[in-house]
Amino acid sequence: MKFFTGKRCRKGHLADRYKASGQCVKCVENYRKTLQYVGFRVHKEDAAVLIKLAEALKAVRKLKNKGVDID
Ligand SMILES: [Zn+2]
Repeated sequence: MKFFTGKRCRKGHLADRYKASGQCVKCVENYRKTLQYVGFRVHKEDAAVLIKLAEALKAVRKLKNKGVDID
């Protein structure tokens, strides 16, 4: 499911968002293409999940850099 917010994403795309994740369709598509480029085949929906995962890992790394103990 997609919907249009009329707002640009943080990368500046004026595109539909996925209803479930709120992620920009273009960002997800770009991410999927990047993964394909390195030989990793993913579906659009999976790419959205992978972005979430990457963001979560980034957040964890940030906390670890701050000295928060997570494992
Ligand atoms: Zn975007």
